[in-house]
Amino acid sequence: MMNTNIHTADKYPILSVEQAQAHILSYFHPLEAEEVSALEALGRVLAEDVYAEADIPPHDNSAMDGYAVRYQDLQGAARPRLRIIGELPAGRVWPGTVGPGEALRIMTGAPMPAGADTVVRFEDTRVEGEEVTILAVPKRGSNVRLAGEDVRAGKRVLRQGQVVRPQEVGMLASLGRPKVRVHRKPRVAVLATGDELLSIDAPPEPGKIRNINSYSNAAQVLECGGEPLLLEAAPDREDTLAQRLRRALELKADLIVTSGGVSVGDFDLVKKVLSSEGHIDFWWVNMKPGRPMAFGTLGGVPLLALPGNPVAAMISFYLFGRPAVRKMLGHTEGWNLPAITARLAEAITRKDNRRHYLRVTLEQTPDGPVARLTGDQGSGILTSMVEADGLAVIPEDCHELPAGSAVQVLLLS
Ligand code: AMP
Ligand code: MG
Repeated sequence: MMNTNIHTADKYPILSVEQAQAHILSYFHPLEAEEVSALEALGRVLAEDVYAEADIPPHDNSAMDGYAVRYQDLQGAARPRLRIIGELPAGRVWPGTVGPGEALRIMTGAPMPAGADTVVRFEDTRVEGEEVTILAVPKRGSNVRLAGEDVRAGKRVLRQGQVVRPQEVGMLASLGRPKVRVHRKPRVAVLATGDELLSIDAPPEPGKIRNINSYSNAAQVLECGGEPLLLEAAPDREDTLAQRLRRALELKADLIVTSGGVSVGDFDLVKKVLSSEGHIDFWWVNMKPGRPMAFGTLGGVPLLALPGNPVAAMISFYLFGRPAVRKMLGHTEGWNLPAITARLAEAITRKDNRRHYLRVTLEQTPDGPVARLTGDQGSGILTSMVEADGLAVIPEDCHELPAGSAVQVLLLS
């Protein structure tokens, strides 16, 4: 840890959000490639350049339903008349040649027949028996899509590091690539700690509360593209905690995310177990909610120990877990939540010098988005997250913000 940091009385350094992020991210790199189907590649990051082996489209073809003709036959007469030699649907090849004075009925997408260079739309023709009259003479080459006009053979069409969207999936199909290489999804072990935790389906018990964090953190892992491994919550006992962490290693987690047990209470054992079993740094991150946090490695696997309060655990995951997952997925940008600027609906005052993340709703107004607090901002008030569209970021040195002030708002999808 840098010795320029301020230290609290209990000797743990106080880090800014950016310092903590930078330290954490230095542990992560894009994971190795795996082959997935074109459709499964959606949202993933390409681990290879993709080249076109052939022209797309592979042949000149008609862009309209009409008549394939020789442009030179349309010169001279005001309303040229041509003899219809047949009909060509998409998917077939005309075996012959369109000769002088001839026209071939052709459907959109059908390959241009030899001899013809122009297509006259049906709308510009009139048919009488075996003959078609051209009512409006188009330019040479009209309504013909040329071979390779979308993609030329040999061209690099998709680039390593690119995020696959539906259009890239379509391009893979166009290239005839059923499989493509993308960065593997990180496996993220999610472990909640606390004697008080009750599983989602257990009957209520005196003194107990439901385990929220396993679910919200696992959902966040899924949301940012990772693969959560849900571990059974650990009571506040060193041996059980150590056993759960070993399980995470057996499951080959790329990242372990714990919640709870990292503050200064009598039963905050995560710190203790981690420092005896692995290497760990403890910090106070200068933010609210969420402050005590630990990061380190256990059996070579990075471990992020989030605070226990459900809102603090979620916000800390967004700030420190999400970027790690996104980096492992191969993303080179967009590690953090997307942000917009909004105006505050009400004045905000506060006394400390921490960075605050306030839960806000966003309302679109003619003057741009307006952010309004979602009520009680306590770090155990999950409702404040449920109602929120975003997290308004109040910088460390801002003590008074009048209504209408511009603030950055991180968007919760
Ligand atoms: P701790 O940091 O372990 O002292 O936890 C801080 C607060 O968060 C306590 O009130 C805990 O009961 C609560 N808490 C910790 N973990 C969870 C969890 N997984 N689900 C819901 N509340 C939790
Ligand atoms: Mg606890």
